[in-house]
Amino acid sequence: MSFPCTGCGLCCQNIRGVESLKNYVLSHGGCKYFDAINKTCTQYDTRPDICRVDKMFELVYHKEYTRKKFYILNANVCNSLQEASSLDQSYRVTLNGKEG
Ligand code: SF4
Ligand code: SF4
Repeated sequence: MSFPCTGCGLCCQNIRGVESLKNYVLSHGGCKYFDAINKTCTQYDTRPDICRVDKMFELVYHKEYTRKKFYILNANVCNSLQEASSLDQSYRVTLNGKEG
């Protein structure tokens, strides 16, 4: 099971204020490793833990939340970013009830 990211790329374009990514942020608030044309991370396989929803759950947030609750919180952030950017509805993160 993994977080159902839809690949909108907006989290990577809004990293200002994320302490562990402070060396990654560009003046416009996006990450220097974000490929805006392909909406991908150019260092995907070695990206930091903070960029990995499931890893962060396993490392830290399982102490505080169920996986389902953690996914809901993350999905709310994704969808808020998308709504603020008027991104097409097809990118909305929805949970299918199998998140545990
Ligand atoms: S904002 Fe959410 S849906 Fe979009 S790329 Fe990031 S994790 Fe995936
Ligand atoms: S390192 Fe990659 S996954 Fe993490 S914010 Fe930058 S572009 Fe996104």
